Amino acid sequence: MAENEKHEETRQEIEKEEELLEEKKEVEEKAKLDTKDEKKIEKEIVSGKKTEEKVEKEIVKEHVVEKKKDFKKSGKGFKKGKRGRFQKEEIDLSKWIPKTQLGKDVVAGKYKTLNEVLSKGEIILEPEVVDYLVPDLKDELIYIGGTPGKGGGIRRTPTRMTARMHKSGRRFKLTALIVVGNEDGIIGIGRAVSNEHRVAISKALAQAKLNVINVKRGCGSWECNCGGKHSIPYKSQGKTGSVKIKLSPTPTGVGIVADNETKKIIRLAGVNDVWVKAFGKTSTRINLAFAVFEALKNLSNTKGDI
Ligand SMILES: [Zn+2]
Repeated sequence: MAENEKHEETRQEIEKEEELLEEKKEVEEKAKLDTKDEKKIEKEIVSGKKTEEKVEKEIVKEHVVEKKKDFKKSGKGFKKGKRGRFQKEEIDLSKWIPKTQLGKDVVAGKYKTLNEVLSKGEIILEPEVVDYLVPDLKDELIYIGGTPGKGGGIRRTPTRMTARMHKSGRRFKLTALIVVGNEDGIIGIGRAVSNEHRVAISKALAQAKLNVINVKRGCGSWECNCGGKHSIPYKSQGKTGSVKIKLSPTPTGVGIVADNETKKIIRLAGVNDVWVKAFGKTSTRINLAFAVFEALKNLSNTKGDI
């Protein structure tokens, strides 16, 4: 028995020693790895391959990549919409902090309609003012661009692409034209240029909201004489570039007698019946749209109410 006990004791001692040795080895290996990494970075820094700044940048990059992964996982990223279509961004007015005096007045409740702001001659510098006062504002893209199609003619596109030559090729810019309105007497037009389709459209939308006017409506037709607000009170005209637009009042039921792009603008202004005559090079759609806008604007260039 005594021999057996001795044997067991020796075994236990040996096992303990082995465990200690293993632990030591592990610690040593870890230390080696750490020193290796540090040495590597130091060597790289000394040799000029990587400066300290670069190492820091790498760390930041890793951090950003991780964050992006989280962002994708959470599913709150970009919405996938219809291909090529412009998706409307929802505006959260509760987060809006007004910067101008007009904005502060609007939030305080001094103005209740946009017509009050416009009749006072205030200059709108924040698009949110219009969003706040006209919640049911609609917008429409005017097709100003075009690509030559098969069999002659051009296929209209929402943005106009222009190119300038560079020694390495062509550099493109995109122009967008947007009309906003509430189909009840308020209309605005905006144009913007950008390198990207989406950016150009959103910039044009913001610009259109700053450029709103009030359209005078009535019934100036001797055939109708109803006294309603379905048409315009008298003849009007507007001009931009070579394009000249003439508007005439009509009786009810005639509709908007014009091309598709002009129709979009006049419908958003809230005019249901009008005769339109166009002169000049109307295939320049930007000038056509601005001429229609001018003609609607000129309806207000009279003294007093009719
Ligand atoms: Zn009428």
